[in-house]
Amino acid sequence: MDLTFGDEDEAFRAECRAWLAANVPAAPLPSGDTSDGFAQHVEWEKLLFADRWSVVSWPEEYGGRGASLWQWLIFEEEYYRAGAPQRVTQNGIFLLAPTFFEFGTQEQKDHYLPRMAAADDLWCQGWSEPNAGSDLAGITSRAVRDEAMGGWRLTGQKTWTTRGAFCTDLFGLFRTDPEASRHKGLTYFLVPLDTEGVTVRGVGRLDGDEGFAEVFFEDAFVPDANILGDVHQGWGVAMATTSSERGLTLRSPGRFMAATARLVDLYRRHGATGGATLRDQVIQAWMDAEAYQLYTLRDVTDIVEGRSPGARSSLNKLWWSEMDVRIHEAALGLLGPLGELVDDAPDAVDAGAWMKGFQFSLSGPIYAGTNEIQRNIVAERVLGLPRK
Ligand SMILES: Cc1cc2nc3c(=O)[nH]c(=O)nc-3n(C[C@H](O)[C@H](O)[C@H](O)COP(=O)(O)OP(=O)(O)OC[C@H]3O[C@@H](n4cnc5c(N)ncnc54)[C@H](O)[C@@H]3O)c2cc1C
Repeated sequence: MDLTFGDEDEAFRAECRAWLAANVPAAPLPSGDTSDGFAQHVEWEKLLFADRWSVVSWPEEYGGRGASLWQWLIFEEEYYRAGAPQRVTQNGIFLLAPTFFEFGTQEQKDHYLPRMAAADDLWCQGWSEPNAGSDLAGITSRAVRDEAMGGWRLTGQKTWTTRGAFCTDLFGLFRTDPEASRHKGLTYFLVPLDTEGVTVRGVGRLDGDEGFAEVFFEDAFVPDANILGDVHQGWGVAMATTSSERGLTLRSPGRFMAATARLVDLYRRHGATGGATLRDQVIQAWMDAEAYQLYTLRDVTDIVEGRSPGARSSLNKLWWSEMDVRIHEAALGLLGPLGELVDDAPDAVDAGAWMKGFQFSLSGPIYAGTNEIQRNIVAERVLGLPRK
């Protein structure tokens, strides 16, 4: 395997590196999980879009550059290397958009994709319910046919909706055939959050950010045009979305390569008295990020050559989520008591980012499907072990 990039790819790298150097805000933006911080992140997303950096791998007619998957990886690497802001559009551009490309009608693609690329529509994910998380097929939110209006009436509740309080639209699963077996009779809906009968209630997190919302539906009407894929076939459509979430797009290697580069830098500043164990943790974290990069190159090779990684995307998710915890544990080990200082404390290191990152990393083994569930999938569908 040839692991070097060609001249065209290196020119692409130089172009995005130069743009990022000129445009990434000098000071980090406030958390995108707060109302004010989210608004600032949306401004950043619009700047990315204006210079066609928001969705580089999409076709040009939807606001992209038609870049290859290899170039997308390069962009991601450069993006994180430059310390650019977190993508608050990620649920749309990384999860929903690949599902549009696979299942959307031409009208849906033409309508939704450019608005998503421009950060005009901001999407949140409506899977989980108070009594259905890992067991997604157990959802009870339902959609009842309204023949006269040519659409469906949604009733029920979604929860843990990331940044739901700030978004404009939700994609989610609703039960359209209560008589069908659990995985059948589900339909994938696209719901504007300002629809009459939809109520969004923000939920504060322990760290003070309002990163989640609960979304309530009371007879909310959506037209037939807002169904992605076929009626009652939503499970298959949703699995395509989860495969993007666990696989290539949500957490690219660039994110972890940048984090481990920062960790090595932290070691140089704070590691002198840390001893061999901490040094080994830092080296291991760096090697893990490199290994993830190489593994991803294999995935991209498969995709480019027409093979789908399928259930193997669960391995990606296990790897990046557990690696992220280890990276942050190593950093907090280096910092000792300093790691507990919050962002505006006078002696806080890197504005308290390592502790905040550590707290978020702990949710990695939960969101995008818990790691216990991913291990079940790997056992059954990658290794072929028996279910019991
Ligand atoms: C940061 C964050 C962001 C999120 N964002 C969203 C979002 O935007 N939209 C959305 O819809 N949801 C979101 N979620 C919710 C997330 O998808 C669920 O928390 C997750 O699917 C687990 O569901 P649950 O919380 O109901 O836990 P449960 O399913 O009740 O699981 C509880 C525990 O039991 C284990 N368990 C359950 N079933 C099995 C089994 N069969 N075998 C072995 N172990 C099992 C689980 O692994 C877990 O440890 C988010 C969660 C987090 C933490």
